[in-house]
Amino acid sequence: MSEMTYPDRLAALRAVLVEQGLDGFVVPHADAHQNEFLPPDAERLMWLTGFNGSAGAAVVLRDQAAIFVDGRYTLQVRDQVDAALYSFHHLVEEPVADWLGTVLSQGAKLGFDPWLHTQTQKERLEQAIISTGAEFVPVATNPLDSAWLDQPAPPAVPVVPHEVRFAGRPSAEKRADLSASLRESVLDAVVLTQPDSIAWLLNVRGGDVDHTPLPLSFAIVHADQDLDWFVAPEKLSDELLEHLGNGVAVYAPDAFGAGLDRLAGKRVWACPDSAAAWVFDRLSGVKAKLARGGDPVTMSKAVKNEAELAGTRAAHIRDGAALVGFLHWLSIAAPGEGIDELSVAEKLATFRAPGEHFRDLSFGTISGSGPNGAIVHYRVTPETNRKLGAGELYLVDSGAQYLDGTTDVTRTVAIGSPSAEMRDRFTRVLKGHIALAMLRFPPGTTGGHIDVLARQALWKAGLDYDHGTGHGVGSYLGVHEGPHRISKVGANTPLQPGMIVSNEPGFYKEGAFGIRIENLVAVSEPAEIPGGERAMLGFETLTLAPIDQSLVDAKLLTDEERAWLDAYHARVRDVIAPLVEDAAREWLVSVTASLGV
Ligand code: ZN
Ligand code: ZN
Repeated sequence: MSEMTYPDRLAALRAVLVEQGLDGFVVPHADAHQNEFLPPDAERLMWLTGFNGSAGAAVVLRDQAAIFVDGRYTLQVRDQVDAALYSFHHLVEEPVADWLGTVLSQGAKLGFDPWLHTQTQKERLEQAIISTGAEFVPVATNPLDSAWLDQPAPPAVPVVPHEVRFAGRPSAEKRADLSASLRESVLDAVVLTQPDSIAWLLNVRGGDVDHTPLPLSFAIVHADQDLDWFVAPEKLSDELLEHLGNGVAVYAPDAFGAGLDRLAGKRVWACPDSAAAWVFDRLSGVKAKLARGGDPVTMSKAVKNEAELAGTRAAHIRDGAALVGFLHWLSIAAPGEGIDELSVAEKLATFRAPGEHFRDLSFGTISGSGPNGAIVHYRVTPETNRKLGAGELYLVDSGAQYLDGTTDVTRTVAIGSPSAEMRDRFTRVLKGHIALAMLRFPPGTTGGHIDVLARQALWKAGLDYDHGTGHGVGSYLGVHEGPHRISKVGANTPLQPGMIVSNEPGFYKEGAFGIRIENLVAVSEPAEIPGGERAMLGFETLTLAPIDQSLVDAKLLTDEERAWLDAYHARVRDVIAPLVEDAAREWLVSVTASLGV
């Protein structure tokens, strides 16, 4: 069968729109669970337009079409998408809703798939559309699916128990807590649509999406502790059913609607920012009394228990040994000829794969040399693949999924001799990283309060970086999870003991080089400071890998910062040296030597 061209695909979608009496259709980068990594059957935006970034949307009208991407993808979208078919727009500066306000005419019918928009997203779009006199029409069947003849089947990877030695608490106990909180709030049930929340609650893992061990599913948790789980039955083994126990009733995903209907007239908690508009419509349809609130599992999941913290420490030691083996290999291979971004990323994976409990990478490795390092979410392809060249920087951001923990680490290394500018910028990024690593802060402090500390040394020199400083990380779950983060915007959740967050300031010079230094840290218990009056929280650094000292301008560091770097390197050496081969150990000892200033 010959591949459909992009003009064919657009024409096929328009033909279905005409059949359905629609004047247009919105195609978001989303699935029914708002997953970060989409299963292949939900890659509708990519199928339609060719754009393969991790966020964006298209709108197809009868006589024009538009694609919206954020700042990370403004160059990529021009490479991947035919400008003769789509106009290009900035997702943030010219949002879909604003654009629709300028192009829709009175009485036009714009379709949307209510499974692919959260309730909040739907309401925002609806307002803009109604103000033009047009209609926003939910479709029962996605018209794009009718046009997409070889759409893959939904994934059906087996679900496996996540052992309590890794999870730390039995599922029944977690469910009892959640149901108790429902009773306290005088609610009858909560609807969960985020697969990572459900996986955490049930102590199960799966493999329906890349890099995150998720089974795609929905759940309804009742105040009496019963849980209705909507998941493809072919994913479940007898062992898994036994693991679930009696409190969990299993239904096929297409029974989810009927499950929601049984909540008729009841008081039901649902999250408008993560649950599909379809869920809200269905609940409203049976007159459920809706309590809108954030997914209640998100916060419980973010605060890791002792077993999860012990697991992530162990996983980070294993990951550190793999990284040291890799960085040692790189130190020998890079000055030679012929190693490139793709081959280096593949090599790194071979160091991680033999590790105990290794299951997968936690995201596609960002392997960027020279100017490619300046592209924040760079994904190397055969077309963009570059050799690592002398006098350049090489940035590698990577991570792994181990049964006992999820890792995410970035190192930037100099290939040959770095320039004075590279060393200055690197040292300023390092100062920001250390400022967070050493910080003590009172309970109640949010990631928004502390973000500035990671940027101050850059700001002083008239520099900055255009991404957040830290994101939450799961326990053998998503490498990006909320609700906490470290960022200028939207980081209003207080940092609590047990939360894992990344510490990843950077600096990017377009067309030249990129720098990022990323460690994961865990928020520590409050501790008294000698002579102090209030107990303070702090960060425990989890990631164990050397930071390239050939890029450090020691004159720019304070005594305290130098002491931090020396102590960190001594710890990396002490913990990792016994785990690597002789040659790597010798190398590790030399690159973790005291700055000696
Ligand atoms: Zn990373
Ligand atoms: Zn990260």
